[in-house]
Amino acid sequence: MNFEDFNLSEKTLYAINEKGFEKPTPVQKRVIPILLNKEKNLIVQAKTGTGKTAAFGIPLIELLESKGYVQAIILTPTRELALQVSEEINSLKRKRLKILPVYGGQSISRQIEHLKRGVDIVVGTPGRILDHLERKTIDLSKVEYFILDEADEMLDMGFIDDVEKILKSTSDEKIFLMFSATIPRRIIDLAKKYIKNYEVIKIADKQLTTNLTEQIYIELNENDKFEALCRIIDVEDDFYGMVFCRTKVEVDNVSSKLIERGYDAEALHGDFSQYQRERVLKKFKEKRINILVATDVAARGIDISGLTHVINYSIPLNPEHYVHRVGRTGRAGREGVAITFVTPKEYRQLFRIKKFSKAKIKEGKIPSVEQIIR
Ligand code: ADP
Ligand code: MG
Repeated sequence: MNFEDFNLSEKTLYAINEKGFEKPTPVQKRVIPILLNKEKNLIVQAKTGTGKTAAFGIPLIELLESKGYVQAIILTPTRELALQVSEEINSLKRKRLKILPVYGGQSISRQIEHLKRGVDIVVGTPGRILDHLERKTIDLSKVEYFILDEADEMLDMGFIDDVEKILKSTSDEKIFLMFSATIPRRIIDLAKKYIKNYEVIKIADKQLTTNLTEQIYIELNENDKFEALCRIIDVEDDFYGMVFCRTKVEVDNVSSKLIERGYDAEALHGDFSQYQRERVLKKFKEKRINILVATDVAARGIDISGLTHVINYSIPLNPEHYVHRVGRTGRAGREGVAITFVTPKEYRQLFRIKKFSKAKIKEGKIPSVEQIIR
């Protein structure tokens, strides 16, 4: 199956081709035809990095025409994702449609200006959208598409009340779509409460994490972690990876120790200002730094292609976070390695993760000094 089989307009096909997409991914094959028919509400589960954004983005740009009022709203859990999703949709469109990312930390008066001038698609975080609703600077009453992206993370981050409030400001005549890497019970509960009929689409994959990622765990003591991390970075010729920590304090610790030792590393966590976050991400995307130390929250859904490594400096407490973290490597057909540090008392947690992710996580060793000198 090719993109041509969807009966898309020349313009959209051209844009897809320009993006370098050759074939639709499995989730795109399932979702695009249904959305083009405008008939169903959907809950879609597909693992991270499988092209969910374009699965809804392509039909949106195909179906919508510039009307100068908000016809589609996409909610994302983080600011970075709002920006990323709006950029992805922008890069796929070849017609006059106005897409606006709306998130906190950005000048609200500029957003108001844009909204006044007329926006067709809004991609935003719940907090800032609510802010606009309260100021009456956004009108969602004519929204035809309501999309919750990364719905599981949205719930994890406690946005459910906000999402419900935003939902209430839209009309009943809309298509409701949820996209998620996992579908926890609460997602179904939310759907049941707000949508009458919906279809659940699960992109079958016994292994939730991507196939192209080699997954390894290393048993070690807390005190040996930092040295192990340095060795893993050193044995690689072109290490380009993310290091996940459990807390902001740990992120600060690990990143400053790396910098002290001369590595090109930076930290990313929730205490950073929007400006700082964007700056750090840009640096990392442009490979001006090759190590990004982050918390789960700061790194949600961020799409950085070609990562060679994901290091779980601390094993995640939530098995779903493991899947999300590891989903960062091996994206769009590239191979990667995910290495999880496990202290002896965290063995049970590793077991839970193995069970949840159904992934093969093999035992590995800290690289020896000889390997590094080689
Ligand atoms: P998800 O939301 O499922 O985690 P994304 O939508 O962020 O995944 O897509 C991951 C990456 O794959 C992006 O860089 C995107 O541009 C790319 N991508 C999406 N669809 C295709 C496709 N059909 N062919 C090649 N790359 C694709
Ligand atoms: Mg996504």
